[in-house]
Amino acid sequence: MKNNNKEDKNEIYAKLGIDSDVLTCSEKILSRLKERFDAIDETAEYNQLKVLNAMQECHVSESCFQMSSGYGYNDQGRDTLEKVYANIFHTEDALVRPQITCGTHALNVALSANLRPGDELLSPVGKPYDTLEEVIGIRPSCGSLAEYGITYRQVDLKSDGSFDYDGIREAINDRTKLVTIQRSKGYQTRPTLSVDRIGELIGFIKGIKPDVICMVDNCYGEFVERNEPTDKGADMVVGSLIKNPGGGLAPIGGYIAGKHECIERCAYRLTSPGLGKEVGASLNVIQSFYQGLFMSPTVVSGALKGAIFAANIFDALGFPVHPDTKVSRHDIIQAVTLGSAEGVISFCKGIQAAAPVDSFVTPEPWAMPGYDADVIMAAGAFVSGSSIELSADGPIKEPYAVYFQGGLTFPHAKYGIMRAVQQLKNDGLVSVTDAIQKL
Ligand SMILES: *Cc1c(COP(=O)(O)O)cnc(C)c1O
Repeated sequence: MKNNNKEDKNEIYAKLGIDSDVLTCSEKILSRLKERFDAIDETAEYNQLKVLNAMQECHVSESCFQMSSGYGYNDQGRDTLEKVYANIFHTEDALVRPQITCGTHALNVALSANLRPGDELLSPVGKPYDTLEEVIGIRPSCGSLAEYGITYRQVDLKSDGSFDYDGIREAINDRTKLVTIQRSKGYQTRPTLSVDRIGELIGFIKGIKPDVICMVDNCYGEFVERNEPTDKGADMVVGSLIKNPGGGLAPIGGYIAGKHECIERCAYRLTSPGLGKEVGASLNVIQSFYQGLFMSPTVVSGALKGAIFAANIFDALGFPVHPDTKVSRHDIIQAVTLGSAEGVISFCKGIQAAAPVDSFVTPEPWAMPGYDADVIMAAGAFVSGSSIELSADGPIKEPYAVYFQGGLTFPHAKYGIMRAVQQLKNDGLVSVTDAIQKL
């Protein structure tokens, strides 16, 4: 029989708008990444077994998938899932709820539950994620922590990305109650923090003030490494279920895992004093929370491979990429500095055109709530706004960087990146033939 696999593949790529230059360039780049991809598969295997083991130890059963309504008293599926999360993160307790609307909400619950008027919040890793500026009151906002008399202090990273230990020591005072550490870089070009570096920072802070609560914004970091920040001293980790741990299947939700007393306060804040974890029906979504969590380690591994592929191909095309082509990864985000608004828009058009849903629509920049510049987002996702699915976004401001993440499968992430390259080529913003020659 004739072996025509390669022709088949070229044909289907051609049908999907990819020309032979982009295909050649991609295959050359990918042939150099085998070893790194093998290491990612090893981590995925470890984390898959960690999740499986947690589900077995917590006796997940078919009856956990029954829907509950109303108050949701004695919701076995919800209560068991919270045990599974606590088992995975090695914490005393967890809150995993569809009533947590997004990552910002989860972070707001964790902060406002554990801070009281007169307390101070410290970020020792620079400016937090854009939406937290309004939660904290860095930008004046209705209902912010500042309105409740909670002050905020920030110590920036040094210019080389290292912790400013002297500055942190000086910033910690009697009122410092909670320290917020963001693992992922968000919309910045600082390095993402490894779990080990987070552990060192927490060790330093607890050495100065042992009773301070150390919270980690774990968005985009789950299952990228074998350990999580709670394995290295964090009192709470917080994240969104429409990012990594929902595995693309959870349609909504957020989680907070940590020390019992911290989680208890979060539960009283999320629902009501007196009610706490006892209420909150899981409706019809609980099975997708379990299933998404089960899929998450391999979904994350595909997204990571996509991020590394993107770094390598855009570097070859002459764009600054962050993280760079070689460094080890601690989140699934890839920043590519395109240097112009047209570049950001073209990239996002390419990602949109690669989507299974809404591939025919054209993304436009808009004034998204919570952000201080217009933002363009490309997402043709099954779950609206889900950024574990192939997605890209970027604020239309200097340095005109686009942040790329996700992909439920590696082949889709790969195609999305190829389609973005193709779009830049079609728009006359890049020369793929030059890049091929240098490879
Ligand atoms: C996404 C994200 C958030 C906020 O999550 P939303 O679900 O968009 O509200 C907070 N911090 C970081 C680092 C994030 O990546």
